[in-house]
Order: sequence, then C-alpha cells, then structure tokens
Amino acid sequence: MTRTQASEFLTDEQWQAIIHNDASYDDTFFYAVKSTGIFCRPSCKSKVPNRDNVRIFREAQQAIREEYRPCKRCKPTGERLPDKEWVAVMTEYMDKNYGKSLSLNNLADECHGSPYHLHRTFKKMMHMTPAEYLMNIRIGKAKQYLLGTGMSVSDIGVTVGFPHASYFIAQFKKKTGITPAEYRRQSYEDQE
Ligand SMILES: [Zn+2]
Repeated sequence: MTRTQASEFLTDEQWQAIIHNDASYDDTFFYAVKSTGIFCRPSCKSKVPNRDNVRIFREAQQAIREEYRPCKRCKPTGERLPDKEWVAVMTEYMDKNYGKSLSLNNLADECHGSPYHLHRTFKKMMHMTPAEYLMNIRIGKAKQYLLGTGMSVSDIGVTVGFPHASYFIAQFKKKTGITPAEYRRQSYEDQE
C-alpha cells in the first residue's frame, strides 16, 4: 500500500475513542478536524466533530506539517512525559517482558520515543543502559528459577530471554562468577 499523504483512514475503533474521549488511545493517534484546522488527542473533551471532517495522524508532527494547529485544551504536542515517568514506563515494560527478545528499537517503539533519546534518558536517570537493566532482571530471574524449580539450565535460559544456552551460561558467569549449574549446586550444598 502506498500512502500519498500522512493521514490515515479513520477506523470505527478510532471514531469510538474520539466520541468517548478515551485516554487509552492517546499517543496511538491524533485526529485533526478539517473545518477548524485544529488537531487533538483522542481524549480531548472538545466538541465531537463531524466524522467526515476528521483526519487521523500517527504523529503530532505529521499534523503540524499539514498545517493543523495543536488544540489548546488537550495540548497534543504538549509537555513531554517527564523523564522520571518515562523511565518508569521503560522499566515496567522490561520487568514484564524480559522473556521476549527485546531490542532497543522494540523498547523505543513500545515506549514512544526514538532509540537514541530513550537510551540517553534511561542512562541519565538509572546510571545504566536499558540493556544492562534488562540483563540484571534476566539474571535475577534465572537465579530464582535455578533455586526454585527443577527446570533445566537451557529451559531457564529460554524462559528468561536467552534462546541460546551457551550465551545464557556465558552471561550468567560474567555477572556472578559461576555457571548456572554451579550456582544451583552451591545452594544445595549450603542447605546440607
Ligand atoms: Zn483538543
């Protein structure tokens, strides 16, 4: 499909979100109203426009490029999420999705930012990179599985986000100084 302009087809779902001022759709799209020349977030409490006049944009910048003005009420270009809250969105996402393959680009997509800006902001606030944070979660979870379950080392690796056992073992050793199997054995010995 080739798109000749930045605006997109208005779906029924989006239309319902606009009618009901549904904030859960904020940042998934913006809507501009041809008759007023203004664009809004889905949650905006302004008067429901005539459906035929609505144009949909993924990004506020696209609407601006087409010379729509941001609504004063819902401030669609608005104050950016403060860094602290943005980083909380990132850590929460990683805390929940550490088992999946997660690149900086995935994270940036999920957390609505550019990879560069996301990486820089995260590092500034957390004093580590997103990749280091993710690695810490994965190794921590792996320790829990090693001690709390009888799962094999390679299955644990897969569960915490390392599809390749050799990479899992190498990373585990780098963090803890011992292999996953040694970690498990030591803890049994400690109990005896
Ligand atoms: Zn508005």
